[in-house]
Amino acid sequence: MEILVINAGSSSLKYQLIHIETGQVLAKGLAERIGMPGSNIVHEWTKGEEVFKKKLDVALQNHTVAFDVIAGLLIDAETGVIRQQEDIKAVGHRVVHGGEHYTETQVVTDEVKQAIRELASLAPLHNPANLIGINAAEKAFPNAVHVAVFDTAFHHTIPEKAFRYAIPERFYQHDRIRAYGFHGTSHKFVYEQAVKHLEAPDLKAITIHLGNGASMTAINEKGESIETSMGFGPLAGLIMGTRSGDIDPSIIFHMVEEMDMSLDDIKEILNKQSGMLGIAGSNDARDVIRLYQEGDKNAILCYEMYAHRIKKYIGAYMAVLNGVDALIFTAGIGENNELARRLCCENLSGLGIELDVQANAAKNHPSQVVEVNTAASKVKILVVPTNEELEIAQQTYALVK
Ligand code: AMP
Repeated sequence: MEILVINAGSSSLKYQLIHIETGQVLAKGLAERIGMPGSNIVHEWTKGEEVFKKKLDVALQNHTVAFDVIAGLLIDAETGVIRQQEDIKAVGHRVVHGGEHYTETQVVTDEVKQAIRELASLAPLHNPANLIGINAAEKAFPNAVHVAVFDTAFHHTIPEKAFRYAIPERFYQHDRIRAYGFHGTSHKFVYEQAVKHLEAPDLKAITIHLGNGASMTAINEKGESIETSMGFGPLAGLIMGTRSGDIDPSIIFHMVEEMDMSLDDIKEILNKQSGMLGIAGSNDARDVIRLYQEGDKNAILCYEMYAHRIKKYIGAYMAVLNGVDALIFTAGIGENNELARRLCCENLSGLGIELDVQANAAKNHPSQVVEVNTAASKVKILVVPTNEELEIAQQTYALVK
């Protein structure tokens, strides 16, 4: 069966068509600048072993038009990989916020759509766009079953003592202010890959997703998320590309009261101008590596701060889990940046964590699970390529097969 996986942003649409039995990506692409001048689609498709790519500059007035163009590309004689649109029996949609209610993947119904709409106040940048994507895809693929896979769902097992904030109860009961956690699809996927690789069904692990956004999760021997570093929103926890991660909230009061800054300005600074960009001048970890190697003080400090924050969470999560069997690095930086991994694992031998520095450097950019710990290390250190699209496709398939 072919499953179409969709990640819709407010002006973009990422898609992958996955053959579920083999996991093969038959076609994928990205539509950008939807509803703006200069809209385009980059479409890739495979024929046998070969991969082809085409860029189309095409007017995409809205997401529905974009889906019609994508549907056309998927069945086109040159760029297509299926015979007819009806061959797509299921569409899996990434939805960022499922709130407390949606702890599992759901077939999209009017009720589910209403919930995604209501949860927009908790994820204003993502849920409205995800819903636009669902509505447009339903029009373009009316015969398919549409499924919503929530980024928050994997974290529903986090106990109340961990997800509540120590603020008056009414903010939880009435206003739903609590930690939700994100990147759940990725944390779950890489954990399960590690379980398979190590043949350890009762693995206790700390998953470390380091991309533009970054988060860590403590996963117990039952495979349940019991703590995660993002909270009410995706700003908490680790230092990210442009997000600050944890800061003392009194900084915000100070900025408002003493520095006359507006909340909009502060929001912009903490979300878009902080993290690696704020410290080292670039949000691309590759630029910062280059500067680090040239001896740039800010780049060195940036990597030190980045790794220090992760180490604090490793220690905390080892306490929460009462020990850990594996650290799992994933996403753009976790998979490809041996420097970041090295600094995160430096001087942790007291916790039984010993990186094999040579293996770590040699096994950068792996296409499958690799071990980069020394033989003596009590804790395994794994690099696991994430594949959120495949996880969404598998969860969709589990509901529709
Ligand atoms: P993601 O959000 O998972 O796509 O990750 C994006 C981050 O991964 C960016 O900071 C990139 O600089 C970083 N990244 C991607 N490839 C590499 C690489 N080869 N070496 C170092 N960092 C990388």
